[in-house]
Amino acid sequence: MGPHHKLSHAIVDIGANLTHASFQADLPDVLARAHRAGVGTIVVTGTSVEGSRAALALAQAHSHIYATAGVHPHEAAHCNSDTLPALRSLLGDPRVVAVGECGLDFNRNYSPHPDQEKWFVAQLELACELGKPLFLHSRDAHPRFAQILRDHEARLPPSVAHCFTGEADELRAYLDLGLYIGITGWICDERRGRHLLELVREIPADRLMIETDAPYLTPRTMRPQPHGRRNEPAFLPHILEAIAAAVAKPVDELARTTSENAKRFFGL
Ligand SMILES: [Zn+2]
Repeated sequence: MGPHHKLSHAIVDIGANLTHASFQADLPDVLARAHRAGVGTIVVTGTSVEGSRAALALAQAHSHIYATAGVHPHEAAHCNSDTLPALRSLLGDPRVVAVGECGLDFNRNYSPHPDQEKWFVAQLELACELGKPLFLHSRDAHPRFAQILRDHEARLPPSVAHCFTGEADELRAYLDLGLYIGITGWICDERRGRHLLELVREIPADRLMIETDAPYLTPRTMRPQPHGRRNEPAFLPHILEAIAAAVAKPVDELARTTSENAKRFFGL
């Protein structure tokens, strides 16, 4: 990924899909590259019950990896009466540090909206009950998504809008709700992420966290582009540098504050 500034603080990738099939063949190499790049902690995203179990298995095998447990809105149509008990059991493990990812995705619509809402609310209420942080996914679902959060505002645990890609009104609604904001390599996308270069300045320093969303969302400004265009946690410094340039702050300062935020948020 080219010569990068050596970070003064280990950084935290708050969202990496390391249970994805594309990592099956070379995960030890991926983890070694992340370590060399200064990524000290990785939170592996659970997107289904099975995926959350696999994420926990990774967290149990590596002291610097943690997991979330949840069902992505794409998977909502496959939820059933076993889903919540299974998530509740996973969330009893101290290495499972958040409920999610859960939320609404009205971009792909892989699951019908009523199913998405039902299982989003169910997971939201589970997080409220357990007092566990929420790892939230929202795509093209503003303002409905914010309204559902507002309905639960009094009991809302610490929550992060992961992979924020929206516009100013959506960002302001989330900040008003007290949400943390997760920024990915979307900000490096000159076609659809340009607006984030300005918007990211509106995120208070103590609410900003960073993530790769690997293997998705490979930063388009990386030269050369990685083999197969697969994203991985080792590319997180590239995203951090793009954010630092956008907010005109030193990379090391952002490395420190985003890591402190992640550790406080997830209780690491
Ligand atoms: Zn997501």
